[in-house]
Amino acid sequence: MDIANEGLERQRAKRKRVARMKKMIVSTLLIFILITTCVMTFLVIEVISLQKQLDALTANMAVAETVEDTEEMVDDSFLDNVYLVDNIDNIAEEGDIPLVYLTFDDGPSENTDAILDILDDYNVKATFFVVGQDTEIYGDEYRRIVDEGHTIGMHSYSHNYSKIYQSSDSFIADYNKIHDLILDVTGVDTKYYRFPGGSSNKVSNSSMSVFINYLNQEGAVYYDWNVASGDATSQAFTADELVDNVMKDVVKYKTSVVLLHDASNKDATVEALPRLIESLNEAGAMILPITDDTTIIQHVSVVQ
Ligand code: ZN
Repeated sequence: MDIANEGLERQRAKRKRVARMKKMIVSTLLIFILITTCVMTFLVIEVISLQKQLDALTANMAVAETVEDTEEMVDDSFLDNVYLVDNIDNIAEEGDIPLVYLTFDDGPSENTDAILDILDDYNVKATFFVVGQDTEIYGDEYRRIVDEGHTIGMHSYSHNYSKIYQSSDSFIADYNKIHDLILDVTGVDTKYYRFPGGSSNKVSNSSMSVFINYLNQEGAVYYDWNVASGDATSQAFTADELVDNVMKDVVKYKTSVVLLHDASNKDATVEALPRLIESLNEAGAMILPITDDTTIIQHVSVVQ
């Protein structure tokens, strides 16, 4: 009996040891799995966070490139050099009354009426370089520009740089389309033109001289600008900054042609307009619409 009991005891003890070992192995495995899961989770979070940082950096780079592109399309950085060299006669002298021409490109738009209302409030005349819009929708705006005494000019029909500047033929077709639209809707046979991107644009593959010669031939005259409000760049200037951008430059010149935009997404321009007019009035400037007597401001010109 004792021997049998002893054997049984030993077996029980052995089973207990095996059970303990099993438990230890299972616990170790569980702990291992737990730690691995924790590490994995941490790594996954870390990867997601890095991915987000990378996305943000890539997005920033894209924005920076867009800003560069836009600035290149509406390049005014060279103006200080080219303009000063070519137009030394236009540098303001003591006692000059600054002549300021506010020009609005890209309209008519949802903002045209607001811009016209403000100009009317201050009894100021400006110049609108318009593009081709649906006349069913914007016919009244084209007409209102003219009826209220502003100058209407052409800014191409399509505003599509690559199409317009593709060839002499495409430029001429586009020119006639916008010229005739304005004539049909307003009765004005305008000869004022503003090149999309300015005559200095770097988008045109053809030499701008081809297009400039065509305008000359048509008796049309193109106006660039020597003061940029900055509302064309993708950098979102506040209304106050737009006013400052203009005011710091208009004091330099006898004649300032100011680049502004009449476009649905340019609300800051509308917001800036009353303050801009007030600031110009305070500075003793005369705000005028472009006429045949206006000093012609051009970035590039072609000698006939
Ligand atoms: Zn434009």
